[in-house]
Amino acid sequence: MSNQGDHASPMRVLVTGGSGLVGRAIQHVIKQEGGAKEGEEWIFLSSKDANLMNAEETLAVFRKHQPTHVIHLAAMVGGLFKNMKYNLDFWRNNVFINDNVLQAAHEVSVARVVSCLSTCIFPDKTTYPIDETMVHNGPPHESNYGYAYAKRMIDVHNRAYFEQYGRRYTSVIPTNVFGPHDNFSIEDGHVLPGLIHKAYIAQKEGKPLVVWGSGTPRRQFIYSLDLARLFLWVLRDYPEVDPIILSVGEEDEVSIKEAADAVVQALDFQGEVVFDSTKADGQFKKTASNAKLRRYLPDFNFTPFNQALKETCDWFVANYDSARK
Ligand code: NAP
Ligand code: GDP
Repeated sequence: MSNQGDHASPMRVLVTGGSGLVGRAIQHVIKQEGGAKEGEEWIFLSSKDANLMNAEETLAVFRKHQPTHVIHLAAMVGGLFKNMKYNLDFWRNNVFINDNVLQAAHEVSVARVVSCLSTCIFPDKTTYPIDETMVHNGPPHESNYGYAYAKRMIDVHNRAYFEQYGRRYTSVIPTNVFGPHDNFSIEDGHVLPGLIHKAYIAQKEGKPLVVWGSGTPRRQFIYSLDLARLFLWVLRDYPEVDPIILSVGEEDEVSIKEAADAVVQALDFQGEVVFDSTKADGQFKKTASNAKLRRYLPDFNFTPFNQALKETCDWFVANYDSARK
């Protein structure tokens, strides 16, 4: 079943957040892996093209490009520690961006929008594994409620655009993403890019690698290039309005300590590894089921974690001067 909406002609796809971690991975799959089909046009936006927190600028950029399809990635994004500091900004900025993008898509008659939620928006107190039906079941973890509620509202938007206007706008729910072009900021970024950057510096300075928190929380990590390949499938062939979790299996969940050990191995870090338990652990786990994905795509191959992490570390070392940090 194809999902190309009413458009018989090739898709013109607008990617918001096209300059970020996931956006750059989609660019790679489109440009280097032959991911685009004959006649398709792909437009990758950054915040320089339009501030999507502004409704007029958003509508103007949609009118300019007249997309038939949209991958909506743009968001205020950050790791646990940035979320804890700026819950208000995460809530407001993301609500504005999402409302502007979805309404602009509707106004220029975009056939299909795929937006991005995250497994960190699920209820904190829950049964496991988490599945797609549980998005609105209970309060998110207290550390990131601003981001979590703003992201949950995308699903409300999608349901309502379908009911009122028959729009088939949908969303995906990835787990923690990592890869080349990530934000390697130690203070604001996610755990893997943070640990990679810290290990790189600690190695140079002959100091210990300091892992924040107890190391016991558990996470599922998806490689940005795998996520990008799955995004293309969702855009072309996933028929539902309801969201779909894009995740490795439950058996591939690792502890933060195991993730730190993998970074140590990938960078051949020789120093001591210590845990700073005065720092927050965040949500203990958010183990997600990929059963729905597996029903649609039983044969999709995820890149093994250690290989993807090595590629990411190699990219960071090779691009240290220009990497976001
Ligand atoms: P990222 O690397 O921080 O990129 C964010 C993108 O959004 C950038 O292209 C940025 O543009 C753009 N952007 C931010 N504010 C904007 C604004 N006001 N107007 C226009 N563009 C704006 O984030 P990412 O990790 O690729 O995340 C992509 C999507 O995946 C997000 O929706 C995020 O919530 C979701 N997600 C991420 C993770 C993860 O672990 N990273 C996990 C689950 C879900 P500039 O480059 O110009 O700043
Ligand atoms: P989360 O998955 O949404 O909680 O966000 P993160 O990607 O920021 O991961 C947070 C988890 O990694 C918490 O358990 C932290 O205590 C732990 N952690 C260990 N070292 C770091 C680090 O250097 N940066 C970040 N962001 N988290 C770290």
